[in-house]
Amino acid sequence: MMTPMRTVSEHQAIVLANTDVLGQVDVPLLDALGQCLASDIVAPWPLPSFDNSSMDGYAVISADVADASEANPRALRVIADAAAGSSGHLEVVSGTAVRIMTGAPIPSGADAVVPIEATNGGIADVLVREAVTSGSYVRWAGEDVTAGSVVMRAGTVVTERSLAVLASVGRASVPVFRRPRVVVISTGDELVEPGTVLSHGRIIDSNGVMLTACAREAGAVAHRAPLVRDQEDEVRAALDLAAADADIIVTSGGVSMGAYDTMKAVLSRTGEVEFARVAMHPGMPQGTGLVRFSGGRHVRIVTLPGNPVSSFISFELFVRPLIRAMMGFTEGSRPGERARSDEAFDSPVAKQQYVRAVLSRASDGSRRVRPVGGQGSHVVGGLAQADCLVVVPVGVGRVEVGSEVEVIDLTRR
Ligand code: AMP
Ligand code: MG
Repeated sequence: MMTPMRTVSEHQAIVLANTDVLGQVDVPLLDALGQCLASDIVAPWPLPSFDNSSMDGYAVISADVADASEANPRALRVIADAAAGSSGHLEVVSGTAVRIMTGAPIPSGADAVVPIEATNGGIADVLVREAVTSGSYVRWAGEDVTAGSVVMRAGTVVTERSLAVLASVGRASVPVFRRPRVVVISTGDELVEPGTVLSHGRIIDSNGVMLTACAREAGAVAHRAPLVRDQEDEVRAALDLAAADADIIVTSGGVSMGAYDTMKAVLSRTGEVEFARVAMHPGMPQGTGLVRFSGGRHVRIVTLPGNPVSSFISFELFVRPLIRAMMGFTEGSRPGERARSDEAFDSPVAKQQYVRAVLSRASDGSRRVRPVGGQGSHVVGGLAQADCLVVVPVGVGRVEVGSEVEVIDLTRR
């Protein structure tokens, strides 16, 4: 008798069980993009680090120009120019001004900047035609970040937006949790390399490039191993080679019930990989566990079914969260969304179905979704057109037009 199927979330939990965040490494700022910080980042100095002008204009004593107006311009003597980057000591006394550029330090004595537009733009002397209050157009030291404060907490993700503050507090590199190394192995006697002219019965290894790209998108350092035939010794050798330098091995193919499902045959014998039927469509046969490298090291393995759509969806559900967890992300899945279906379609009641679809926005602003391409697990053409997956839970046999469904938006992180 067959064992009962497990649910998608049960299998997700099993794949993720006992996952540790990988060790930390110091990486140059740009390489840290998309990774989680391994420690708090503290500002050793304030930001801005000195009082400076937010406008091109004149640094003045605000009391000097308190009653300046268009009808009653106030004349000041210009004692110097201050450009961004200038560092000489300048002092404004009553009746004088410094012609100042955006970002230049505020001279001592001055407490405001008159924008150039409110003056005659004079060089030796200037006529001020508007009053300014104390502090106008001055960016005070520390108004953004105070010295000693934490600008980013351990565990937060370095983004394009946060790189500016990391650079501004003096970092050229930051400690992050390292990226997992992923090796992708495609198995099957029928497979040939991309670029090969096909002979009858052969197919091109499309999973290899797709899954390697999926792993990289998730944040891993991933590469594709050479093709592996359905021969036990070849499979064993490929696993051993991959285990030598991987944190995760991802395989596709050879884990169904067929006569040549060699991956399953080899791994079943080690006792460290568990094969299960997951109540999902596509992608029912799944396996996960450990591979022991002949050097003694244990490496995680996730075996995915060979059909391209099945392997893509299985990667999204099981491998992507594993990669994210190892990188220190607390949330491994993409943010869930809801949308209304523009089409009616059937779904297998006993399985959670993942339907390739396209998201759009209706004229009233609501999110809409429409199944795309064929829904066979071999249709790579249809997969290419999809930008999301509609999740139809167990127990639902049909989705009607206009009904609300859960969607995984594959374009979001
Ligand atoms: P399997 O899981 O090995 O029984 O393969 C199931 C189906 O997926 C078969 O039609 C295979 O030809 C196909 N397949 C297996 N591996 C790949 C691959 N790497 N790229 C594209 N199709 C594959
Ligand atoms: Mg096969």
